[in-house]
Amino acid sequence: MASSNSSNYKLNAAIEKLSCTDILPYKLENTEATCEFLKKVVEVLLDFVRSTNNRNEKILDFHHPEEMQKLFDFSIPDQGLSLQQLIHDCATTLKYQVKTGHPRFFNQLSCGLDIISMAGEWLTATANTNMFTYEIAPVFILMENVVMTHMREIIGPNWKKGDSILAPGGSISNLYAFLAARHKMFPNYKEKGIATIQGQLVMFTSDQSHYSVKSCASVCGLGTDNCLMVPSDIYGRMIPSELERLIIERRNRGHIPFFVCCTSGTTVLGAFDPINEIADICHKYGLWLHVDAAWGGGLLLSKKYRHPRLTGVERADSVTWNPHKLMGALLQCSTIHFKEDGLLMSCNQMSADYLFMQDKLYDIRYDTGDKVIQCGRHNDIFKLWLQWRAKGDEGFEKHMDRLMELTEYMVKKIKEQPDKFHLIMEPELVNVSFWYIPTRLRKVAHSPAREQELGKLCPVLKARMMQSGTLMVGYQPDDRRPNFFRNIISSAAVTEQDVDFLLSEMDRLGHDL
Ligand SMILES: *Cc1c(COP(=O)(O)O)cnc(C)c1O
Repeated sequence: MASSNSSNYKLNAAIEKLSCTDILPYKLENTEATCEFLKKVVEVLLDFVRSTNNRNEKILDFHHPEEMQKLFDFSIPDQGLSLQQLIHDCATTLKYQVKTGHPRFFNQLSCGLDIISMAGEWLTATANTNMFTYEIAPVFILMENVVMTHMREIIGPNWKKGDSILAPGGSISNLYAFLAARHKMFPNYKEKGIATIQGQLVMFTSDQSHYSVKSCASVCGLGTDNCLMVPSDIYGRMIPSELERLIIERRNRGHIPFFVCCTSGTTVLGAFDPINEIADICHKYGLWLHVDAAWGGGLLLSKKYRHPRLTGVERADSVTWNPHKLMGALLQCSTIHFKEDGLLMSCNQMSADYLFMQDKLYDIRYDTGDKVIQCGRHNDIFKLWLQWRAKGDEGFEKHMDRLMELTEYMVKKIKEQPDKFHLIMEPELVNVSFWYIPTRLRKVAHSPAREQELGKLCPVLKARMMQSGTLMVGYQPDDRRPNFFRNIISSAAVTEQDVDFLLSEMDRLGHDL
């Protein structure tokens, strides 16, 4: 299959020279040409889908930015280009794009190319509506309502009456939790501002949590010094007694603790903070409990893996859950859920009278746009709804169990080759943390000095992966250790053979380092 050869995508002679003003919506008589053009675009897309799923194709064709600027014509012309040129532009764009759905792409928490979700995104783009009012998105608004209620019911039976919204990413979902918590404790803040809070607000999150939690403190006027990083144990889980110690310490200084973020699935290690113990502390001191399950939330769908990881989640006040991570929905798809209904609206409503008129034809409770701090909102629900229709709860459960099973397989394979790989810890999620050991270090006993050496090799081996285009695995340091690899299995395309390939390819590329 010749996939990325852009010269293949010839429009027929009658339309190749046409420009955008020769087709719809300008020329009704050229409906045929419009369809020809779109079909050609779809052909380009389908070839990308095919090559994404073809293990003989590379994951990426890497070029440095200066080189890429020479290879690719990024310029904005004075005069518009032909339809044929636009088709070539589409093909060339995808030629240099990293195939995040390739079965050997293990680099990111969001990967895989779910075909149903993609079809949904295509429809969404075609419908091109805004999600603020029922008036212009009746079907999508009702879908959002149904899927959000379903997700809350999965969080806990006592959540059915709560409220939820789709946000542009987990970071913003976490921000919504912060805003609602502050609004709940200081309802006058919205109108009167910072002066209504007599004292220093402080929030708590683990030192392994996502940086967006700390960013709330900076964005919302607390200052990052007032986002306390609670120490975690060697598995990366928040230590509840440390949380309590820090709360007491800050209370004794006259500060106002109000918000605790408990991470369910940390970004690097995939650790789950103990929700029940943290909930007890929040209850004791009257603090809002937010669970950031942006990453681990998918496991709520699995009877086998939900407990003990997410046990107690129903005791939270708010939960962030990103379907665009474990569940494989296309980017972006992130949700924030609240146990209490009404908070989002009372916290964020601005009642713009040109959008949210109170005297509309229909029940204005369906105008969700005033619950958010954006105005226009992208339709992220259709692709998730369609995907859930396709899979059912059962299909999603199987998908979660499969990802975890593949992770267990990888751990087993790593342990079978202790000369070549050093497993850092038993994972709780699909994050596998390990070092690759090249030949020269295989006989050296493991020690902090060897860890430093192995850490230095990570960027070199990663560079070789990118240059060869055959594999992508991420690495990073953390506060306990130098660079190490963090492998993510979050794509339905991955099989046991791909895991075998991953390990042997790392060895092929790195044995002489
Ligand atoms: C990915 C992630 C986020 C941020 O989500 P975005 O959609 O990338 O903004 C927040 N928290 C955790 C634990 C994450 O893994």
